[in-house]
Amino acid sequence: MRHVLVLGDQLTSDHGPLADADPATTVVLTVESVELIRATRAHVQKAALFFGALRRFSRDLASRGFRVDHHRTADSFASAIAEHLRRWPGATLELMRPADRGVAAGLTLAARRAGGDLRVLPNPLRLVPDEVFDAYARGRERWRMEAFYRRVRAREGWLMDPEDPTKPLGGVWNLDRENRRVPPAGTRFPPPPSFAPDELMREVLDDVERLFPDHPGRLRPFGWPTSRAEALAALDDFVDHRLPAFGPYEDAMVGGERVLHHSQLSVPLNLGLLHPREVVEAVVRGFHEGDGRVPLASAEGFVRQVLGWREFVYHVDRTRGPALEAANALEHDAPVPDAFWTGRTRMACLADAWQGLHERGWNHHIERLMLFGNLALTLGTDPRALTAWFTAHYVDALDWVMVPNVMGMSQYADDGGFTSKPYVSGGAYIDRMSDHCRHCPFEPGRRTGADACPFTVGYWDFVDRHQARFERHPRMAMIVRSWRARPEAERSAVRARAAELRAGLP
Ligand SMILES: Cc1cc2nc3c(=O)[nH]c(=O)nc-3n(C[C@H](O)[C@H](O)[C@H](O)COP(=O)(O)OP(=O)(O)OC[C@H]3O[C@@H](n4cnc5c(N)ncnc54)[C@H](O)[C@@H]3O)c2cc1C
Ligand code: SF4
Repeated sequence: MRHVLVLGDQLTSDHGPLADADPATTVVLTVESVELIRATRAHVQKAALFFGALRRFSRDLASRGFRVDHHRTADSFASAIAEHLRRWPGATLELMRPADRGVAAGLTLAARRAGGDLRVLPNPLRLVPDEVFDAYARGRERWRMEAFYRRVRAREGWLMDPEDPTKPLGGVWNLDRENRRVPPAGTRFPPPPSFAPDELMREVLDDVERLFPDHPGRLRPFGWPTSRAEALAALDDFVDHRLPAFGPYEDAMVGGERVLHHSQLSVPLNLGLLHPREVVEAVVRGFHEGDGRVPLASAEGFVRQVLGWREFVYHVDRTRGPALEAANALEHDAPVPDAFWTGRTRMACLADAWQGLHERGWNHHIERLMLFGNLALTLGTDPRALTAWFTAHYVDALDWVMVPNVMGMSQYADDGGFTSKPYVSGGAYIDRMSDHCRHCPFEPGRRTGADACPFTVGYWDFVDRHQARFERHPRMAMIVRSWRARPEAERSAVRARAAELRAGLP
C-alpha cells in the first residue's frame, strides 16, 4: 500500500502524488487540525473553509474507491499521524512538498516518533520552477517583480506578439497606467458567486461554531467554494462577468462593495483546488475568444497578478523567507491598533473594510495594502505582530504568501529587498481612489487639527521619523525636502497627533 498525506492547501488529485495513484493500493491521510486553527486564532470562516474543503475532498476520494483515513476535528497533525501509524505500523507517508517552509520537517519528526517515516515529493502546483527564479535572482541584491515577470511571461508565451514572440502583445509589458480608474457613482457590480453549504458543510459550520467560539469573524452566511466543482464554477464566473472590467478598477475602493471586479480566486488557488496554469489559461482564452469584450489591460493585469506577483512572492519566501520573517529594518514596535481587532473607529474607509473582513475573512488587495497595511506602517506597527494579525484574519492567508506580502511589500521590513519604495500614502490617495472620504468625519487633505485624516497625519509622521533613511532615496527624497520646509509648529503638531493615534485610533 502507498500512504499519501494530503495537506489542506494540496487538495488535488490531478497533480502530485494522487495523479497516478491506484485507489485499490493507496491510503490517503487527511487531517483537520484544531491545534493549527487555535494556534493562529483563525477567523471562523477560515476554519470552516479549510475543514470543509478537506472533508469534501476526502469524501470525493472515498467515493472514487480510495481508502481515506480522514481525521475530523483532530487535536493535531502529530496525534493524527500517530493514530495512522498505529493502524499501519512502520508505514512511510508520501507528501507533496509543502508550500510553507518548516512544515515538512515538523511532519517528518511526527512520523518518525510514531515509528514511521515521511518522503517529500515535488510540488507541481507552481508555474515557475525553482531554477527559473534562481537564475533570475542570482547576483541581484534587490529583486523586482517586473523584470521577473517579463522573463516568465515570454517563457510561457502568454499574451505575446505572434509576429515576434519576444515582444509583448500590444507593444508594452505593463498596462497599469490604464488600470487606475474609479467607477462612477451608481456603478452596478456583478454579484460574486456564493456557494450554499450542503449537508456536509452545514456540519462543518456546526463544528467550527462549537470549537472556536471566541475566534474572530462572523461564520454565517458562508459561501466560499470548497470543492473542485465549485472552484471551477468560480473561475468561469470571473471570466464571464468580472474579467472585462478587472483591469481599469483594480485599484479602486467603493464603500459597501466588497469584491468589485476582483476574482477572489486566491481562495481556491491557495487550497490547491485550482492550478494557477488553468486560471491563467482561462483568462488568456477569455481575452482571445472574447470578441474584444476583454480589454488587453484587464487580461494583462490579471496575468501579471498570478504569473507575476503570486509566483514571485512564493519564490521570495522560499529563498529569503527566514531572513524576511525576522526583519524589522525600520525598527517598528507599536502594537497592532485596537481598531484592527474590534472595528471600532469613525474612519469611514477602515470601518468599511473591517466590516468586509469580519463578514467573510477577505478584503481585496488595495484594502489590504493601502488601508490596513499603510496605516499600520505609518503608525510604526511591529511587522511580525501585523503578520500574525493578517494570518489570523484572512481566509487565504498561508505563511508563504503572508510573510513576503506583509513583511516585505506592505511593511518594508527588509528595507526594500523587492519593492522600490514603501507603500505609504496619506488620505489624498484614498480620496482619489474611493468614495470613502465623502462619508467620513475626517478631512483627507488635513494633517493638523481635530479633523485631520489619520492617514495623512501618519504619513507625514512616517516621513518625519524616517527622514534620514529616505533623504537620498530616489522616490522619497523630494517628499523629505518638502516636509523639512514646513514650519516647526506644524511638524510638532503632526508628531503629537501621531503619538495620540498610536495610543488609539479615533
Ligand atoms: C498586506 C497584504 C497581505 C496579503 N495577504 C495575502 C494572503 O494571505 N493570501 C493571498 O493569497 N494573497 C495575499 N495578498 C495578495 C493579494 O492581496 C491577494 O492575493 C488578493 O487580494 C486576493 O484577492 P483576489 O483573488 O480577488 O485577487 P485578484 O485581484 O483577483 O488577483 C488575482 C490573483 O492574483 C494573485 N495575487 C495578486 N497579488 C498577489 C500578491 N501580492 N501575492 C500573492 N498573490 C497575488 C492572487 O492569487 C489573486 O487571486 C496580500 C497582499 C497584501 C498587500
Ligand atoms: S478622510 Fe481619511 S480616514 Fe476618512 S475615509 Fe478618507 S482616508 Fe479614510
